[in-house]
Amino acid sequence: MTQRLILASNNAGKLKEFAQLLGPIGFELHPQGEFNVPEAEEPFGTFVENALQKARHAARLTGLPALADDSGVCVNALGGAPGVYSARFAGEPKSDARNNEKLIADLAAHADKSAYYYCVLVYVRHPDDPQPVIADGVWRGQLVDTPRGAGGFGYDPHFLLPEFGRTAAELAPEEKNAVSHRGQALRALVDKLGKLK
Ligand code: IMP
Repeated sequence: MTQRLILASNNAGKLKEFAQLLGPIGFELHPQGEFNVPEAEEPFGTFVENALQKARHAARLTGLPALADDSGVCVNALGGAPGVYSARFAGEPKSDARNNEKLIADLAAHADKSAYYYCVLVYVRHPDDPQPVIADGVWRGQLVDTPRGAGGFGYDPHFLLPEFGRTAAELAPEEKNAVSHRGQALRALVDKLGKLK
């Protein structure tokens, strides 16, 4: 039997990517906007707390199971910054261009350019689910001063994958999904959900 599942996001790219792997194990994914769910606050200092808050919020307002994600880039020389603040690193309004400019400027004095993307996914059966299903993924790379590539989003043009010799913005979407933090987290979540059925 198919189980309706609310995605606590209205990002069309994520919906498509997540539906491709969750459909075959019996989930029918709906963006929260279809149910007029407004965006939840993300007040916490950890990715997992923010994702749990978003998932609970969507489940509470729809009465259905919900899935949320939270992600960001963590730079080792900057003590893990921007981390949970990645989307608004350079302040409001959100701007990928200004975020990248600030990141490269902050990193200029540091020799260590290593960084990683992190993504956590949280699935709740209902808002007060005592056992949320949690899966995460890490994708390591090096930040480069000069942006390259037109694909992806966010910090991708500056995020070099040494094993590919290309930035994340130079990878085709399928190549990125096969190795990215989000792709890894999603496959781990699918594995866990499949075992629960
Ligand atoms: P969110 O979890 O989709 O809200 O993403 C948080 C922020 O982290 C984004 O706005 C980007 O700045 C950054 N980020 C997360 N994943 C990626 C990625 O795959 N590529 C580039 N930037 C990312």
